[in-house]
Amino acid sequence: MFSWFGLFGTAFMSALGLFGLIIVIWAIIDIVKQERFTDIEKLIWVLIVIFFNIIGVIVYYFAGRTKAIDLEKVRSEISSDGQYCPYCGKRIDKSFTYCPHCGGRIKK
Ligand SMILES: [Zn+2]
Repeated sequence: MFSWFGLFGTAFMSALGLFGLIIVIWAIIDIVKQERFTDIEKLIWVLIVIFFNIIGVIVYYFAGRTKAIDLEKVRSEISSDGQYCPYCGKRIDKSFTYCPHCGGRIKK
């Protein structure tokens, strides 16, 4: 039996399916490009996106990408580009001669 509602319904579902497919592919490309992720993390996110589709992409966008940015921040803080002020103990850049927090002179 022909019905306009059925036709529009099918077209709508196809468009939604296509949109879902595009967004999943976009997410997978984005995940693979993330240099902050380890291979295991990439694999986990790709699987999440494939299994949960749009919901997985949303979770990745709000949790995964934010986590990636945080990891980068943490990594740069751990890296050897910094040192600690011997007077106040605050973390300062290696190139600083004077501590910006307490004004103490840093010995080289
Ligand atoms: Zn200081």
